[in-house]
Amino acid sequence: MTSKLLRQPSLSLTAATSDPSKRIGILADYGSQVEVDKSLAVKLYFRSGREVLRMANMYCDDGQLESAFILYYKFITLFVEKLPKHPGYKDAPPGEALELKRKLKTVFLLAEEIKSKLKKRYIEEEKIFIEEQKRLAEERAAEEERRRKELEEQERLDEELAKKLQEEEEAEVRNEQEEKYKRLRTLEEQKVKDEQEKKGAAGAVAGVSDGVAAAAGAGAVAGAGLCAVGVGDVPPPSAPLPDMPPPQVGGEAPPPSYADYVSDSRLYPPQIPDRELKKKLVITDSNTPDVPAVPSVDRSKKPIDHHTSLGDFGGLQGGLRTVTVPEELMVKFLAAAQSNTAKESETMGILCGKLAQGMFKITHLFVPQQTGGHDSCDMENEEDLIFYQDEYNLITLGWIHTHPTQTAFLSSVDLHSHFPWQKMMPEAIAIVCSPKFQETGIFKLTDHGLDVIGSCTQTGFHPHSKDPPLFETCDHVQVLSTESITLTDKRR
Ligand SMILES: [Zn+2]
Ligand SMILES: [Zn+2]
Repeated sequence: MTSKLLRQPSLSLTAATSDPSKRIGILADYGSQVEVDKSLAVKLYFRSGREVLRMANMYCDDGQLESAFILYYKFITLFVEKLPKHPGYKDAPPGEALELKRKLKTVFLLAEEIKSKLKKRYIEEEKIFIEEQKRLAEERAAEEERRRKELEEQERLDEELAKKLQEEEEAEVRNEQEEKYKRLRTLEEQKVKDEQEKKGAAGAVAGVSDGVAAAAGAGAVAGAGLCAVGVGDVPPPSAPLPDMPPPQVGGEAPPPSYADYVSDSRLYPPQIPDRELKKKLVITDSNTPDVPAVPSVDRSKKPIDHHTSLGDFGGLQGGLRTVTVPEELMVKFLAAAQSNTAKESETMGILCGKLAQGMFKITHLFVPQQTGGHDSCDMENEEDLIFYQDEYNLITLGWIHTHPTQTAFLSSVDLHSHFPWQKMMPEAIAIVCSPKFQETGIFKLTDHGLDVIGSCTQTGFHPHSKDPPLFETCDHVQVLSTESITLTDKRR
């Protein structure tokens, strides 16, 4: 699973993280993050160094070159730069120092070899990444072009529709005006006619006695006759602009002309087709249809993607990797501890295993020579463990011990015993078996516990503040009934 992930890192590459040299630099940064706790004995670091190398070898075998590189780099940092500053370094056994020098030479060569392999792979991945980016940019450009055309087409349709509506509206306004004009003309003419009739009637009465007045009356009737002709000439509603002169009758104000209506801008404000506005707001590049509008983005300004999963390699940062524990481990251990348990003496063992498919598997239980008491026990001949682990290529994943008379928990002495294991290997666990209370606890120190125990200089049983808790039940452990364990008992 993990190796599959590692072989497809281009999926999470960004322009900022695709540079091969930068990627190597990031790994080297991880590798140089080594801290040496001067309160821990130098021999613990020598032990840790051996485990780091074994683990790096496992990563190599598993094809996890990045993790292997980080660990080799850690080894180099630890022994070339950091550990020589430890006050106890001068007193390290000369054999160990000599052995270390020999190992360092090999590790340098290995690290260089892996580096060049990684670089080659990163260059390949960068090439793929750049091609992929290019392809995506082309896709985006094609998509933009398609959208631009779509918009253009939409705009054309909108324009057509707006034009049609405008024409309809104009026709309607024109019709209304014509109707109104016609009505007013009719009214006006009716009025003139009525007045003419009134005047005619008065003239006829006067004409009986006055011949001059009768002649004038005839002229007026003639005028009324003219008017009647005018009425008959009013155009039908659908006719175009009537340009006949308004009848000049009796000094009366002429009826309003058609032009007066049409030019009344207060009633009929000029119609601005909104398509003009739309054009300005929406499409700005419609005049350059041949240039696809691809925004140029400076990707180097993007924040670095921190999810390139480097934290998952080597368990050096981020979550703990799963540790599998065979159910059989506790059964076999309790059987081996039986005679001690009967005497109410503690028994301890070392949990050894390997890395496989990104998980730590406990496969071997090593019971060293030891001195056990009522509430503690200590390993003797630590070299036995080193030889054993070298022989089977195993790393230390924690320890197990019994509490013959007490429940399963970590005593203050247990906390101090576990501290170096977990400090060297964050996944390291402490299993406590209580046959009397028939319980098993699988524990680790909390972050707070690591701080407190790391700075506590007391030895033997002594109180620690328990709030917040110093240890907790592990949730990175899987107990499996399908796996088996190999037990090696050095006490016999
Ligand atoms: Zn204990
Ligand atoms: Zn303490």
